[in-house]
Amino acid sequence: MSLLEVTDLHHVFHRGGKPPVYAVNGVSFQVEAGETLALIGESGSGKSTVGRLVLGLLTPTGGEVRFEGRSIAGLGRKESRDLRAKLQVVFQEPYESLNPRMRVGTIIEEPLRIHDPKMPAEQRRRRIVETLAAVGLGEEFLDRYPRQLSGGQQQRVGIARAVVTRPSLVVLDEPTSSLDVSVRARTLQLLGELQRDLGIGYVFISHDIHTVSHFSRRVAVMYLGRVVETGPTAEVLANPRHPYTRALLSAALSVDPNSRRVHVPLRGEIPSPTR
Ligand code: ADP
Repeated sequence: MSLLEVTDLHHVFHRGGKPPVYAVNGVSFQVEAGETLALIGESGSGKSTVGRLVLGLLTPTGGEVRFEGRSIAGLGRKESRDLRAKLQVVFQEPYESLNPRMRVGTIIEEPLRIHDPKMPAEQRRRRIVETLAAVGLGEEFLDRYPRQLSGGQQQRVGIARAVVTRPSLVVLDEPTSSLDVSVRARTLQLLGELQRDLGIGYVFISHDIHTVSHFSRRVAVMYLGRVVETGPTAEVLANPRHPYTRALLSAALSVDPNSRRVHVPLRGEIPSPTR
């Protein structure tokens, strides 16, 4: 049994009178305990929608998400709460994802309060301080507000909030894209250390092939809402089989590796993926 099994997932956004958006069109993959799977593809290829479906924030139009052997659809309230404790997320924009009116200590405490309300106060306090230390921040940060932190520190708080419940899977949705280059490398290193120490599995969403090549041993390439190619990152990068992956790679090689967007100019020339 894999930690996460995503099978033939579909999602259509209906937008009133406008044409529907077929954002996810039959995506399947697995993530094993403690491993990282990167989802890569250009903007609009459906990566974040897959992330939200995995988290149960959206209900799929078709297909299934199984987490630790159980379908996440139709869970009762308590089961959903238990699931959320084990399945967390880090978003791209740390400041936007942190409540500006809450102090760091309260932000990190919130998931524990929601998902583990019976945890004794002293144990909760210890867990918060331990988690803050694990992301490289001292106790002096507990009383600060997000606006008093740098972007890198804000993202560390976002990561602390995600791991404080000791989840088995975290969806990382472009977690370093909004950070300065120097901070990016340190944040990725921190995520790697937390994975080793806590045994967390990651779904790592990124448009940046350079980041993925350093961070993830396995990659799934997404194009027009489908996974067109998947395998060990080193193999996929060295010997891409799908024309879209080749285009993505050649575009990535022709831009500054620190740029925030990989522009893929060949889109019109690439055949649509087959299922
Ligand atoms: P990515 O993460 O790869 O950039 P997304 O999953 O965000 O891609 O988006 C996939 C497609 O779904 C895009 O065409 C996007 O415009 C569309 N989309 C995403 N969210 C919504 C929404 N809430 N309503 C309508 N369309 C959406």
